[in-house]
Amino acid sequence: MSGRSYDVIVVGAGPAGSYVAYELASLGHDVAVFEEKSASGLNACCTGIISTECFHSLGLGTDVMLTELNSAKFFSPSGRCLKLQTEKIQAYVVDRPLLDETLVSKAQSKGAQYFCSSHVSDVISAGDSMQVEILCSGTREIFSGRVVVLANGFRPRLPQKLGMGKIRNFLVGAQAEVEAGDVEEFEVHFGQKIAPGAFAWVVPTSTNKVYVGLLATAQARLYLQEFLNSLFRQGRITRRESEIRQKAVPVGTLARSYGDRVLAIGDAAGQVKPTTGGGIYFGHVGAKIAAQVLDEALTRDNLTAGQLSRYQKLWKEKMGKELSRGHWARWAYAKLSDRQIDGIFDMFDSDGVAEALLNSGNFSFDWHSKLILAVLRQSSAYPLLKIKHLLSREASL
Ligand SMILES: Cc1cc2nc3c(=O)[nH]c(=O)nc-3n(C[C@H](O)[C@H](O)[C@H](O)COP(=O)(O)OP(=O)(O)OC[C@H]3O[C@@H](n4cnc5c(N)ncnc54)[C@H](O)[C@@H]3O)c2cc1C
Repeated sequence: MSGRSYDVIVVGAGPAGSYVAYELASLGHDVAVFEEKSASGLNACCTGIISTECFHSLGLGTDVMLTELNSAKFFSPSGRCLKLQTEKIQAYVVDRPLLDETLVSKAQSKGAQYFCSSHVSDVISAGDSMQVEILCSGTREIFSGRVVVLANGFRPRLPQKLGMGKIRNFLVGAQAEVEAGDVEEFEVHFGQKIAPGAFAWVVPTSTNKVYVGLLATAQARLYLQEFLNSLFRQGRITRRESEIRQKAVPVGTLARSYGDRVLAIGDAAGQVKPTTGGGIYFGHVGAKIAAQVLDEALTRDNLTAGQLSRYQKLWKEKMGKELSRGHWARWAYAKLSDRQIDGIFDMFDSDGVAEALLNSGNFSFDWHSKLILAVLRQSSAYPLLKIKHLLSREASL
């Protein structure tokens, strides 16, 4: 069976896919979005923390907002607590399923067509178009697009098949929503025994619920269950039994995020902050750049890899350094012992170092590289000294 033709076919209705669909449909292009779930945002595994900048750039309203964040408590492996606060609101916790639905509605209002319960099983080049194979309720259908945007999250099969390479490094994120006891503020917990290679979090979402989650190099579900047990024993949460959702988070980028008549954006391209695993904002930046490059390419009717390579050039210019410094910082952090992490807490806690960093202009919720460089300047733990040496070639350390 054969479906109709579009200018742009977007695979995946996550925040990156729906945003690019919104921009391109607003510019008058004929856009179709295929989503394998029965509704966008269903069973999302995400905390929904985004910067105020990201919130406004996505054009969201307060209906999506759950809480505002201007402070956080950081816990060291030995349990030491460092509370940091800024005057200005830095971020919002948003209702992630509602965020996805809102972006779908915005794109639809500009004319983008959505097909849910439609799994894209293959994308095949047919010279002057791309053939997209859809499996929907047991039937197979082919649609065609002048160009395809892969916004299907961290699923390496399609990018690899289309010659864009494969992201090999990833973390695993796991999260549960549980009934809260004594949790009032956003908390971040460090320690290689709590969340190896990354960190855990507790985020109040409503008066009696919190998200408890973590990122880890492996076995995230097991570590999360252990973390939930310990919060329950301390009376911090009142129920520990809850559905745990799990999802891989890429830490690395595609070798080529473009090809003939194809681009990858968001998690599919690895546009994720390596320090926190947050991908909504960088995926949004990637989607904006993709829309700009695709608009020009569609208008000129030049959708060759040569023309679309501008997309990678532009997003690497904007985010490349940020991503590479973040990767090094994460690599070094994974090698620190719990004692060394406690030592870094000591350094931050002494003589107002943390406050000075927060107020120095080096702190940004989304752009971490200045903060990373500022921390490196002050630290002497061995793995950090190693990346200090590596980064000294590109920054004055
Ligand atoms: C536990 C956890 C907590 C997180 N918390 C945050 C946070 O607080 N803030 C933040 O910024 N980021 C967070 N992230 C990361 C964030 O969820 C992702 O970076 C973000 O969802 C990426 O958006 P995307 O649109 O690129 O991909 P996705 O949101 O993954 O969307 C991809 C869509 O494509 C669909 N799809 C996949 N394959 C196909 C196919 N073949 N055919 C049709 N449809 C398909 C999927 O169903 C999905 O709807 C978190 C991640 C985890 C694991």
